Amino acid sequence: MLYPNIDVSEMFVEREAQRGAMHTRHLNEQLVRVLKTIGYDVGFQRGTGQYLFDRDGARYLDLLSGFGVFAIGRNHPVLRNALKSVLDADLANLVQMDVSTLAGILAERLLEHAPYMDKVFFANSGAETVEAAMKFARNATGRNEILYCDHGYHGLSYGALSITDDSNFRGGFGSLLPGCSSVPFNDLVALEKALSTRQVAAFIVEPIQGKGVNMPSDEFLPGALALCRKYGTLFIADEIQTGLGRTGKFLAIEHWNVEPDMILLAKALSGGHVPVGALLTRKSIFDKIFNRMDRSLVHGSTFGKNDLAMAAGIATLEVMKHERLVENAAQRGAQIQLALKGMIPGFELLKEVRGKGLMIGVEFGPPKSLRLKASWNILESANKGLFCQLITVPLFKEQKILTQVSGHGSHTIKLLPPLTITEEDGTWIENSFRTVIADSHRVPGAIWSLGKTLVDNAVRKSA
Ligand code: PLP
Repeated sequence: MLYPNIDVSEMFVEREAQRGAMHTRHLNEQLVRVLKTIGYDVGFQRGTGQYLFDRDGARYLDLLSGFGVFAIGRNHPVLRNALKSVLDADLANLVQMDVSTLAGILAERLLEHAPYMDKVFFANSGAETVEAAMKFARNATGRNEILYCDHGYHGLSYGALSITDDSNFRGGFGSLLPGCSSVPFNDLVALEKALSTRQVAAFIVEPIQGKGVNMPSDEFLPGALALCRKYGTLFIADEIQTGLGRTGKFLAIEHWNVEPDMILLAKALSGGHVPVGALLTRKSIFDKIFNRMDRSLVHGSTFGKNDLAMAAGIATLEVMKHERLVENAAQRGAQIQLALKGMIPGFELLKEVRGKGLMIGVEFGPPKSLRLKASWNILESANKGLFCQLITVPLFKEQKILTQVSGHGSHTIKLLPPLTITEEDGTWIENSFRTVIADSHRVPGAIWSLGKTLVDNAVRKSA
């Protein structure tokens, strides 16, 4: 029998103009409305490296990188060839009653970056990796409590959501996992108090918090590790966003010389193409979970360790090493931070620039001058955090830069570009931010007219 050839690129061309209509009908209609309202419905056609191209061929610099998955950029040829080579090799993928060669190779290569670890557990996403860590910690310690940080983000499945501190995500979904409680980030006194009950299985922390780009004090992570050791609690570093070069080191914890009990990776390991998560831990912990032959499959999931995901991980690590992307993240990050910090004295709405490598937060806040105060207050009383949209929308529409506001009600814009960005891209970012921030200091002006439209929308929504 002759099969029709399924040409997905042809399918894309034929139907792309209907994407909004299809999503309105069959998928998330609210997202379509959001994109239309803020003018982001430009119909992206193509992505290569750190750039995106819309329907009209305009080029955008992507500072969102698919929420951090495109560390090596979009559609990297090495990754593409690795994935093709898996498909062309007719491998015996997911036999289940076999052990995967590619998983062995990826585990070996990941562990080279954390030589104090011995074992890897592979999952299919960040949240799934977090779930595994929570289960492993309870099982290995025989304790029930999990401690996390205020403002922490660890994912949206029930376990991960139970340790994610955001009422916007938690509200309306019923009861969460018992035994989970939080302490303030950077508060070692509160942490010690919570750990001293000796009931806590694990303390889970993002070395730099993704929501808000909150930085740890220099003492926090080493101090937290010491306290965990003192009270028999496992220290889990959630590096799902910060790991794999993002902060200018392979792992963010290297900035503070911390050796945790578990390291969680996902996002960038996928090369942006095949979802994968990895939990790195010590043999002494791993062996408590997989402790007998009849428990060899006590935790896992059907697609874990699939060949395409393993190949994506292997290719991603190879590209990072070959292109020295960790070093590039450190250099470009320093360039961008220096440029943005230099703008603070000139702009009263710009308060702080912080971060490490290519994980940068740009924080805005209330103005001092009366001239700007009235406009700021109207905007903020309609919807806290709306001001950042006055920056991100013109950045997108006029400067062709894609960014995100870092969390609900936040005044911080997050820069999370592919680690491949160049010095010229850094200059593009600098010039664009300067132009848009300068415009935001002009009242009346185009930016505050946009503010009025957003306030009207917010008021209409709440009416
Ligand atoms: N942990 C951290 C620190 C994250 O930033 C994220 C995602 O943003 C997750 C966990 C959840 O990952 P996923 O969205 O792949 O489930």
